[in-house]
Amino acid sequence: LAKNDHRGVAVATGDAADVAGRQRLTTLEELRTGLDRRELTLHYQPQMHLGTGVVTGVEALVRWDHPRRGLIFPDVFLPLAEHAGLMGRLTLQVLDMALEQCRDWRADGLELVVAVNLSASNLQDATMPGHVADALARYDVPPAALHLEITEEILMRDAARATVVLAELRAMGVRLAVDDYGTGYSSLAYLHALPVDDLKLDRAFVTHCDTDPRSAAIVKSTVELAHNLGMRMIAEGVESEAALSRLREWDCDLVQGYHLSRPQPADRLATWLRERQPGPRDPRRTGDEVT
Ligand code: C2E
Ligand code: MG
Ligand code: MG
Ligand code: MG
Repeated sequence: LAKNDHRGVAVATGDAADVAGRQRLTTLEELRTGLDRRELTLHYQPQMHLGTGVVTGVEALVRWDHPRRGLIFPDVFLPLAEHAGLMGRLTLQVLDMALEQCRDWRADGLELVVAVNLSASNLQDATMPGHVADALARYDVPPAALHLEITEEILMRDAARATVVLAELRAMGVRLAVDDYGTGYSSLAYLHALPVDDLKLDRAFVTHCDTDPRSAAIVKSTVELAHNLGMRMIAEGVESEAALSRLREWDCDLVQGYHLSRPQPADRLATWLRERQPGPRDPRRTGDEVT
């Protein structure tokens, strides 16, 4: 039982300062059980191609459907999982759920690409590319339908080791994006050398790009940088029509944000998509498509 696990009794009782620590330990023990019981679930947030208005993919965002506490957000449990060495297992579960869902959507005529986030330890794990290949084969999903997102901060931590894993993933045909770009101090030399396809500019620069001149300057020059490096630019945190218009004007490739849709469960996303893009099997009926 998790409660009797030797890792669970390391904290002394009675001290007020220990309360937060004990809370974390409880959460961690419950997370181990939660992984066994498959309590993790995914919400999906659409990504729209700005040139055509077509939703081409979704980002899978993990939530923990806790039996007592309800839906718990990743900021609460991902750092614990990473610290306790559970990230390998967690990522495999997320990949499995995301690719199963991707297969089901494709079977229903929804040709969506699914983006999955990787953690720091995933990039140091030489077995990761093999696991990804297994999961793709298990659901018969083409590698090009899987995108993997790695935050700039994580990429910079051990770029040399990460590059080996990334190159292997990319050689399989999986597409790679630098997530939260602009917050992680990557040098242009690294950006040039990294085997990545897309730059996903952090929402700190995107959300107010329609009103803040400095954000605008950063967005515009990042689009240019991405394109000059042969990459696509994805803007996250698009919260208004005004920001969306500017991004279109500046030739940004893809957008994601509350203005389009919040992350939502798979069934709701499919309904939302069908109402927005009727008849996904028939390109002539997608009103946004350029003819
Ligand atoms: P991220 O990968 O940068 O994902 C975007 C986050 O911004 C999500 O938060 C999303 O709900 C939120 N977001 C989307 N649009 C908007 C917007 O217009 N405005 C604002 N203010 N926020 C927006 P979420 O789902 O809480 O995830 C937080 C972070 O947790 C993610 O940031 C990612 O780094 C990490 N994460 C989530 N799922 C996974 C996973 O399965 N594996 C790993 N390793 N990390 C994950
Ligand atoms: Mg992401
Ligand atoms: Mg991000
Ligand atoms: Mg983030």
